Amino acid sequence: MHRTALYPGSFDPITNGHMDIILRSVHLFDRLIVAIGLRQGKTDLFTVEERIDMIRDEIDGVVRPNGCEIEVISFDGLSVDAARNHGAKIIVRGLRDATDFDYEMRMASMNTTMARDVRTVFLPASPEVGHVASSLIRQIASMGEDVSPFVPPKVARLLALKYAVSSIDR
Ligand code: ADP
Repeated sequence: MHRTALYPGSFDPITNGHMDIILRSVHLFDRLIVAIGLRQGKTDLFTVEERIDMIRDEIDGVVRPNGCEIEVISFDGLSVDAARNHGAKIIVRGLRDATDFDYEMRMASMNTTMARDVRTVFLPASPEVGHVASSLIRQIASMGEDVSPFVPPKVARLLALKYAVSSIDR
């Protein structure tokens, strides 16, 4: 059976936690679609194009033992619609803690009600990255601190650059 999964998120920016979910998903699925959800009314740090480039750069180096294809897309609206539009019957989400669990359970139940043919699969965060969150990384980087333990090296450089430029702009 050919398994296509959609991994939705904001990825602003992609972290070692997201990479951990991707590295494990390639063992489980034949095709993985990393899907950047556009958030209405929210101010993002990186543009969608920047995030797509960053994710593509990182997935280039991912070893795919079973030949899993990985695509990067952006979408507006519901994850279940994005899943259907891209032929995915599975939505992958990561679980870090009880806060994620409560939110993700609610979301998965609502998604199942809206789209019975799309199933959510949860992957528990690996212990080494279970604390990593994009929002915290943005905060740390905005203070000029080192985020290299939490994100891929290229992303750490882009974060430093982004905040250096925004401090010049001010
Ligand atoms: P964040 O919550 O860091 O802003 P996203 O909204 O992009 O990240 O999250 C997309 C998905 O990735 C969610 O299912 C989230 O729980 C999962 N995720 C994010 N960080 C991690 C992590 N460190 N370990 C496991 N899953 C994670």
